[in-house]
Amino acid sequence: MARRGGPPHTMTNEPAIRLASRDAGSASDAAQAAAKSKGKSAVEDMSDELALTDEAAFLESSTREFPVPPALTQHGPARVIAMCNQKGGVGKTTSTINLGAAMAGYGRRVLLVDLDPQGALSVGLGVPVYTIERTIYDVLMGDVTAAEVVMHTSVPGLDLIPSNIGLSAAELALVTEVGREYVLQGALRDLAQVYDVILIDCQPSLGLLTVNALAAADSVIIPLECEYFALRGVALLQQTIEKVKSRINPRLEIEGLLPTKYDARTVHTREVLGRVREAFGDQVFDTTISRTIKFPETSSAGLPITAYAPTSTAAQQYMRLAREVLDR
Ligand code: ADP
Ligand code: MG
Repeated sequence: MARRGGPPHTMTNEPAIRLASRDAGSASDAAQAAAKSKGKSAVEDMSDELALTDEAAFLESSTREFPVPPALTQHGPARVIAMCNQKGGVGKTTSTINLGAAMAGYGRRVLLVDLDPQGALSVGLGVPVYTIERTIYDVLMGDVTAAEVVMHTSVPGLDLIPSNIGLSAAELALVTEVGREYVLQGALRDLAQVYDVILIDCQPSLGLLTVNALAAADSVIIPLECEYFALRGVALLQQTIEKVKSRINPRLEIEGLLPTKYDARTVHTREVLGRVREAFGDQVFDTTISRTIKFPETSSAGLPITAYAPTSTAAQQYMRLAREVLDR
């Protein structure tokens, strides 16, 4: 990964609905309990589960095809998308990297902005976060321009503005700024002319950094883990988005809810996905992302899954998501 000199490319609360009647418990517990009551073995019961594949496939995604995005002859202005959910571990960072890489694979110039002091997005792309000198923090403080901090990744067309733990000082430092909600928007304005898509990876909170992301964005993608309590907090997030829309950024829209870590073999995640689709209808992406062991592997490799295992189901799903988003 090399830092680029000039500007890139130009020169070169409570859930809205409650889930199910029974409490959280693993699918195998449920399978065993059901098996006991029917006098079946757990293995027999598991094959019942597998027989539900048609229903599972329906929930997972329809057979709808999204067109391969047309080639571009010129680039920009960017569509800015905030990847947001104040719950941690739901797949925000994983989706930022892989949706970004998939869009770059379709010839889009993509900029990823790491707005989480944990720096997981930067680490996931192979950046040595503890030794980098300049990050999004310096951009927000007005010490450097965003263009000066942009780095290339190993994926052609995919660039990054990194972050590290230093960013945790930003919330406090921004509080006293005039127009504190608009600092990121102002900082990205020039770059937005030369990229096709900017994805902002938010931290798991609804604090000032996240509000800055929402103020800079055209739309929000909300990754949701297919787990009980997935919807807890979504109402609060929606309220925040509405407030930002009415007070700060009238063009802000919800791009979609993205179900992640879906496991068709368990009743549990199928049920959660069913409820999410029931509650949010068309707002839920057709594409869902399956749970796979590959993701922890890819982050240690510092590569998107589309590069690490391009034929894997998850890589194919993120490519489909890219087509779905670009088709909207
Ligand atoms: P967030 O940014 O919302 O905190 P991450 O993208 O960092 O969430 O994901 C949290 C953890 O879950 C990471 O260890 C990541 O590798 C793993 N993970 C993300 N998506 C998947 C998936 N589809 N299947 C399995 N593990 C996943
Ligand atoms: Mg993250």
